[in-house]
Amino acid sequence: MSERIFIGVGWPYVNGPPHIGHLAGAYLPADIFARYHRLKGNEVLMVSGSDRHGTPTTIRAEQEGKTPSEISDRYHKLFVEAWQKLGITWDLYTSTGTANHAAVTHDIFLTLLKKDYLYKATTSQPYCPKCRRFLPDRYVEGTCPHCHDTGARGDQCDQCGKPLGAAELVNPHCRTCGTAPEFRQTEHFFLKLSAFQEQLKAWVKQQSHWRPSVLNFTLGFLEEGLHDRAITRDIDWGVSVPVPGFENKRIYVWFENIIGYLSASKEWAQLKGDPEKWRDFWQKECKSYYFIGKDNIVFHTMNWPAALMGYGGLNLPYDVPANEYLTIKSKKVSKSRNWQVYVLDFLSRYDPDPLRYYISINMPETSDTDFSWDGFIRRNNDELVATYGNLVNRVLTFTYKNFDGTVPQPGELDAPARDLLKKAEDTLGEVDELIHGCHFREATRTAMSLAQEANRYLDEKAPWKSIKTDKHQAGTSLYVAMVAIAQLKTLFAPFLPFSSQKVHDYLGFSGSVADEGWRWQELPAGQKLVEPKALFVKLDPKLAEEEAGRLGQETGH
Ligand SMILES: [Zn+2]
Ligand SMILES: [Zn+2]
Repeated sequence: MSERIFIGVGWPYVNGPPHIGHLAGAYLPADIFARYHRLKGNEVLMVSGSDRHGTPTTIRAEQEGKTPSEISDRYHKLFVEAWQKLGITWDLYTSTGTANHAAVTHDIFLTLLKKDYLYKATTSQPYCPKCRRFLPDRYVEGTCPHCHDTGARGDQCDQCGKPLGAAELVNPHCRTCGTAPEFRQTEHFFLKLSAFQEQLKAWVKQQSHWRPSVLNFTLGFLEEGLHDRAITRDIDWGVSVPVPGFENKRIYVWFENIIGYLSASKEWAQLKGDPEKWRDFWQKECKSYYFIGKDNIVFHTMNWPAALMGYGGLNLPYDVPANEYLTIKSKKVSKSRNWQVYVLDFLSRYDPDPLRYYISINMPETSDTDFSWDGFIRRNNDELVATYGNLVNRVLTFTYKNFDGTVPQPGELDAPARDLLKKAEDTLGEVDELIHGCHFREATRTAMSLAQEANRYLDEKAPWKSIKTDKHQAGTSLYVAMVAIAQLKTLFAPFLPFSSQKVHDYLGFSGSVADEGWRWQELPAGQKLVEPKALFVKLDPKLAEEEAGRLGQETGH
């Protein structure tokens, strides 16, 4: 029976180009998941967009002497280009800069206000006497009171993931000029998170299918007790506050961007010419998954569910499979030190599937994992080229040449042949279950183990030798290997969409591999093959050093 699957993916700040940390944290797992569910015949809606607002963008703009709008336009285009080149299959990738998003945000704001879940209060906020302005969020930096990291900011500590208020920072200082701020009174709207404490706790306790890291982190927070949070800021860039007297303030980006999941769904429905269609994913039976990095957990397991509970009538998250971090050569990525690998730069020299593969098999699902150029080249050469690519290439090239470019007619299958086909069938079931449970790393390994098994079978049968004495037997072995390959193109379709499509074509199937469904692929004897080309390119291990040398260098980003 077909299901409805909503996939919301964290909204990236567009204050810099997309990097592989974005990919590993949220975008690749979400795309694998979306592709898989579409293959399963489920109805999928996957949305996200660029977060144009927030202090990361205004800070960048000030540094460059540009407007926040110019900065976010520039990087939004790069994100769109990266998604297209990587094959990320959005139903809609929009931005928080649309009139639709502002309208949906205002509706949620005003509804929560009417229901008394928002209230006005005077609060003490850091103010820089030298810059003569309030210092919202990232404009103030200091030491984290929880983990003592010195790079904590007025909105949160990236090191330990805890949200912070500016007043909690130890040794706070203005990011722009370094002056210690004074605290001044200012009026803001607060979200009454405390009102949802018990309701959230009861709900979270039911989510035994969540990743233990996400569940425990959230429960830990709820145990400490939720504090009401200010959801407006003294800033002039962002979605306006729909209340008189607040013309000079804006809605806080972390209240506003998560509403993007709903506004993007409405925009998608409008663009589809079926404006009420969003309701299928928000008001009818549907499982909602939110793919994010671990630094965004609180917003998705508490703040957004609280806003949804308060608003009423909309589906709560079903799962929030937050990933840990991808480090580079065991160091935390850093934009300021340029310790980062940028997606478009990467794709200017390498194909998308090897990158998708390396990140999939190395995905930071349960702990931080490390990206290294050595690791990338080794996985590419040993696994994609020598295992999967070689299997496809030697079987299809040899068959194409020796069997008139068609799938050979098999004879009776012996025990090793039956074993391999059984393994292929089992693998289809195992990978199905693994992706369904968001275990993408294990799913990639399991699929690759079928390619290894098929290589062992071929080595044992050696059809390139037996063809000289018994062409029929050689044809049977090749046929069996090709049936395994036909399953591999399905197994790898969510991970390696470009090469799966090639294998699909080489095997003589028409149309798109994405339309074939997640099922056993029959391979009719006599089907006309297409002459295959190498699936993957072997890379010179020396490249690793050259690439690693670029890290930490100025690239102009
Ligand atoms: Zn901390
Ligand atoms: Zn200052």
